[in-house]
Amino acid sequence: MAVVSQQPRASSRLVSPPGESVVDRFLRYVRIDTQSQEDQSTTPSTKKQWTLANQLVDELRQLGASNVRASESCVVYASIPSNLPAGSGRVPAIGFLAHVDTSPAVSGANVRPLIHRNYRGGDIQLPGESQVITVAQNPLLAELIGDDIITTDGTTLLGSDDKAGVAAIMTLVDLLARNPDIRHGPISIGFTPDEEIGSGIDKFDVGAFGAEFAYTVDGGELGEINEETWSARLATVTIRGRSTHPGTAKGVMINAIHALAEYLGKLPGDMLPETTDDRVGFVHPYTGVLDVETSTVKILLRDFELSGLEAKETLLRDIGTETERAHPGVSITIDVKENYKNMKEILKDHPELTANAFEAARRAGVTPFMKPIRGGTDGSKLTFRGLPCPNIFTGGHNFHGKTEFNSRRGLEKTTETLLHLVQIFAEQGNDGTSSR
Ligand SMILES: [Zn+2]
Repeated sequence: MAVVSQQPRASSRLVSPPGESVVDRFLRYVRIDTQSQEDQSTTPSTKKQWTLANQLVDELRQLGASNVRASESCVVYASIPSNLPAGSGRVPAIGFLAHVDTSPAVSGANVRPLIHRNYRGGDIQLPGESQVITVAQNPLLAELIGDDIITTDGTTLLGSDDKAGVAAIMTLVDLLARNPDIRHGPISIGFTPDEEIGSGIDKFDVGAFGAEFAYTVDGGELGEINEETWSARLATVTIRGRSTHPGTAKGVMINAIHALAEYLGKLPGDMLPETTDDRVGFVHPYTGVLDVETSTVKILLRDFELSGLEAKETLLRDIGTETERAHPGVSITIDVKENYKNMKEILKDHPELTANAFEAARRAGVTPFMKPIRGGTDGSKLTFRGLPCPNIFTGGHNFHGKTEFNSRRGLEKTTETLLHLVQIFAEQGNDGTSSR
């Protein structure tokens, strides 16, 4: 059994291995450059994402998946019909999603994956650009002793984010095709472009996807399951003063830049991204325009709790009022927009989704744990569009960088977890224990 161990609760049934191992599949996909690009008017943002998308369409067809197609915006859809016997209990259609693109931050061209077989511990020196994966910065390496670690040569990212997710889902399709005895309900498969620039999911057709729930397979460390994201808003603070020729400015000029400086100085130092972690939210001024007449600053507001987010918005408005008072003649307006909301707001009503993911991980021999994401996911947008969508680990580390890595066990255990997950939903339907 190269990939799939026996599941504890099943009888002595063995699982036939996939036609291609998840590791080989992964190594093939990471060699395809699918980097996305910011500020493009089209989806996909880069044509090269089509190379992998088209290949996935071909491979899904070869593996016997149904309704395989790519939309004009490069979203790949497929489905696998239920193989439950007639008269079985109702099993919901569940979906699996991964994204084909890689981060614009680091080149994804000419990725040369390296396998460090039977890792013995210690820092991993990569050949290119003196990149080192250190134990000091990656204490999790201690858990990977004896595993085969997959890195790049140090000149590009690896693209495990999210080709690990793509490879695990494709291997699931392969395994189900080869093991008709494995019982499962209807399954929807989706591969999306432009996740890294946040726009690809807008073109995703939830109705056509056809699932009641889904999982993005786009997480990190083995066992990590996410059902919480930030609730996120963006504040644009506009400070208006009065410009005049500086030679004749006395008593006339009101310099908005000074008011902006004071405004920023009043932001609490312990409420910034560089001073917070875990469940503590922040305000983050990240860009702006300095000008005597009109200065602006854009500030991200992030919190896991809506009440915390509200408090941050109130704080920004209060600081505005104080700053106006301290700078007579200055007027300050604060415009706040919602970016996205914590998907837990919806997922709390579907506790079986994360409970089943936990059980699937345990059956795969992985210890599951919940971790809130200090960011957003495609799943958080989908959750609010009617497709509740927690996120599952892929075994990957150091996303968006040249020291990105995954491992054989990471890829295999992710795949096993998905395989158990579809069976758990099927068992619940048959037991009549489904929560629906
Ligand atoms: Zn990702």
